Amino acid sequence: MAVVEKRDLPGGAVCTRDDLVPGFRFDVGSSVHIMIHLTPVVAELELAREGLEYIEMDPWAYYPVDGTGEGISFYRDVERTCASIARFSPRDAEAYRRYVERWAELNEGVFETFLAPPSPGRLFGTILKRNLFRPKSRRLWSSLDTARQLMAPYGEVIRETFESEPLRTAMLWLSAQSGPAPAEVASGDMFGWNAMIHRSGAKRAKGGSGALSTALVKCLQRHGGEIFLEHPVEKVGRDGSGWRVEAAGRSFETEKVVAACHLKTFFTEMLEEGPADLRDRIGKARIGNGFGMVVRHAVEELPMYGSKVQNGKQPREYHSAMQLLCRDGGMLDSSYHDYLAGRPPAQPSVVAMTFSSIDPTLAPAGKHTLFTWAQYHSYELRNGEHWDAIREREADKLYELVCQYAPNMRGKMIGRYIQTPLDLERDLGLLRGNVMHFEMSLDQMFMFRPLPEISCYRAPLKNLYLTGASTHPGGGVFGASGRNTAKVILGWRGSR
Ligand SMILES: Cc1cc2nc3c(=O)[nH]c(=O)nc-3n(C[C@H](O)[C@H](O)[C@H](O)COP(=O)(O)OP(=O)(O)OC[C@H]3O[C@@H](n4cnc5c(N)ncnc54)[C@H](O)[C@@H]3O)c2cc1C
Repeated sequence: MAVVEKRDLPGGAVCTRDDLVPGFRFDVGSSVHIMIHLTPVVAELELAREGLEYIEMDPWAYYPVDGTGEGISFYRDVERTCASIARFSPRDAEAYRRYVERWAELNEGVFETFLAPPSPGRLFGTILKRNLFRPKSRRLWSSLDTARQLMAPYGEVIRETFESEPLRTAMLWLSAQSGPAPAEVASGDMFGWNAMIHRSGAKRAKGGSGALSTALVKCLQRHGGEIFLEHPVEKVGRDGSGWRVEAAGRSFETEKVVAACHLKTFFTEMLEEGPADLRDRIGKARIGNGFGMVVRHAVEELPMYGSKVQNGKQPREYHSAMQLLCRDGGMLDSSYHDYLAGRPPAQPSVVAMTFSSIDPTLAPAGKHTLFTWAQYHSYELRNGEHWDAIREREADKLYELVCQYAPNMRGKMIGRYIQTPLDLERDLGLLRGNVMHFEMSLDQMFMFRPLPEISCYRAPLKNLYLTGASTHPGGGVFGASGRNTAKVILGWRGSR
């Protein structure tokens, strides 16, 4: 068994580098591992045995209310979260409790469908069973109302669920993380899904996100497999009854191939043969126009939100969390309008992450890492500018927002690593900067991902399999599609 990888490090968008700013370890893709903790992947593959250690982020999210020194903390524990919300609105605290109960129950059902190849029967059957027939006391109209909210834009569902602006904005910005905008029809579950984080927790792999990939490589090697880094695959073609994979001047002969890269790249650039209409259709599947950029900073200290404290040397509880810097829904809307117009956002919203506060292996003693993910950023600009010319200017906007919230951060940057949507494409192969490969809209999820005819991890060619973020259940640090594909290859019988 061999993994043939283009880059010099394994893991694609789950990768950490220590050669970007001396002394600091920066993730170059994902940072927060959530969904994988709902799957049995880490335990089944015995990744702890390979040195993988997780650190709980608790709180996992924090919404600082600008300029007040107050904020909402989202803890693993729902009651603690409600107590934090109650300081802004006792009614919202109660509404949040109901929200978690209702949407976590529904999404446990949705999650069951994530751990199997997708089919309409499995999807609708599980949701109906979970939602219409449990618990017994539930009335039909209540289930229909959930169905209505699933079909609604999440921005609207949030507005009707909560009354206080801080909680509404926090939930909007959290829900926007997978890409679809708050006004997108049938996106209600982008909001509902967050309820599951109280079940899964949000965690950091010690040493950086890439520690997961390192452990997976060790697991592969423990089972006799090999990895070939810096081997960009050029061609995949038939070789008698098997397959031939050509990479970096070598030819690998194999019985089976599993394509785990972006499937548009695979079908349009690597696969030698195959149905022309499939190549044409996958070429047209929606990748969108990117949606975010990220800047990794090495900093002297931690951001102290709205605090009079001048010095950020002592971590606060909220430094474990995704810090949601967005003043109100209007800020998100205006950056989305800029995005639609094809210009960089005047005022991007930011998720700030300071993991060195819970994992000292990431920075020299007394220093810190500050990652800032921001939206919305179009890959293709239509205002005559080019990303390579404006990257520093756009990166400055992200740090400036952190400084507006936490004035102690002015003048505290040691170095940074900028990833524009164009960089994400060039460095990680994420076409048009979409970190989820294809857009995560309802028409490209479940049995529609990436196309109905190849949604069950098989290409229409013998012994050619497909996996990864391009397939069900989509992007994110998940492991579910790989696990499902492995089951299909081993002869899926429908059990988990
Ligand atoms: C900046 C950023 C932040 C993110 N944050 C989070 C987060 O906090 N939490 C979360 O859950 N998700 C996050 N994500 C999303 C998540 O990381 C991805 O959706 C997920 O890792 C995709 O995994 P994958 O293995 O399916 O695809 P990829 O990571 O895209 O891997 C595809 C692999 O194929 C390789 N490849 C491509 N072409 C070739 C070729 N010709 N030959 C050989 N190999 C090739 C690539 O080098 C890569 O290793 C983030 C992503 C990015 C980029």
